[in-house]
Amino acid sequence: MGGVNILSINAGSSSLKYQLIDTATGEAMARGVVERIGAAEGRLKANGVERAGHFANHEEAVSAALETLPGGCRVDGAGHRVVHGGGRFRASVLIDDEVEDAIEKLSHLAPLHNPVNLAGIRAGRTVLPSVPHVAVFDTAFHATIPAEAYTYALPYGLAEKWGIRRYGFHGISHRFVTERYAAITGRSAESVKLITLHLGNGCSACAVRGGESVDSSMGMTPLEGLVMGTRPGDIDPAIALRLMEWEGWGREELESLLNHKSGLAGLSGVSNDMRELTAAAAAGNARAALAIDVFCYRIRRYVGALFGVLNGAEAVVFTGGIGENRDEVRMKSCGDLEALGIRMDADRNARVHGEEREVSAAGSKTAVWVIPTNEELLIAKDAEARIIHAT
Ligand code: ADP
Repeated sequence: MGGVNILSINAGSSSLKYQLIDTATGEAMARGVVERIGAAEGRLKANGVERAGHFANHEEAVSAALETLPGGCRVDGAGHRVVHGGGRFRASVLIDDEVEDAIEKLSHLAPLHNPVNLAGIRAGRTVLPSVPHVAVFDTAFHATIPAEAYTYALPYGLAEKWGIRRYGFHGISHRFVTERYAAITGRSAESVKLITLHLGNGCSACAVRGGESVDSSMGMTPLEGLVMGTRPGDIDPAIALRLMEWEGWGREELESLLNHKSGLAGLSGVSNDMRELTAAAAAGNARAALAIDVFCYRIRRYVGALFGVLNGAEAVVFTGGIGENRDEVRMKSCGDLEALGIRMDADRNARVHGEEREVSAAGSKTAVWVIPTNEELLIAKDAEARIIHAT
């Protein structure tokens, strides 16, 4: 059977990333990003070409994106990335007005993400009214996390009232690399036991047993867990309480501290970008070096914890911009974990950037892999599956 052409849409507050994917080949026929939506002067970068323009809202951004598609190219459907699916959405779903409402109602759990994802969905449905639209959730892969792992030790009724629990995020990426790992090693996804590490601007670790997520370092929101570009990951919650007192801060200052001013950027004072941090550390910047050390140590701590959760894993998989490209981060976090059966191949690891390869030594009891993620492809494949299922 032939494939379909799916427009994969990832809408942020002021940007909209898109790819048109032919699901038969998995290839992107066009890709681009509209930046600075709503600003006086925005930018459209598509298929290697950049132009300035004014994009008043997400609708204008989607229309501009469609103009960059190859001439005569059909769009058979659209897949929208949605960050929070709450307790309701355990899998991708065809979007109708009721689904839109439900995503909106979950905005209290993800106020920075769901409203802008919804703006992308509404724009897509307006500009492309005659094709099916599918929502693909970052939380869905983690719907299998058991109660003992998703429950916070808070008053039960309060947690129930507000939906306070661990949901986990980056599920599209964790699922993609799990399925790829199974395919590469010639196994069924149901048979693999892995620790997957998505290290990009946001970072999370996931424990996978039987092809399903059984724990995530991320929590009710994408703030918990590993150190990230501008987010601190785990901190003692009393720090926020004391800062309210010491600095006279309210919600806004704390949101800004936790979402934008912490992590690699806040710690180093240099950048949230690992490339710039590595260069600064090499030039003798001690805080840049400390930021990298703290980042890698936190990964090591979670790898150890998830090993305990799983009672051993057959492989650790690195993905995301940092996981795929920063060999020194892989080495620093996993280079000295012989007790967990991990023996890295330092030379091979140093050569692997952005490609699918094993980077552990021959005979390492626990393998270490680099598997580049492709969230757009998974979104397109899931959208195709839902569309075919519905027809
Ligand atoms: P996002 O989470 O926004 O999708 P990425 O997955 O691209 O972002 O991750 C961004 C991080 O990955 C940055 O710290 C950047 O330094 C690093 N990174 C991305 N691409 C490369 C590369 N080709 N070489 C080295 N580092 C990279």
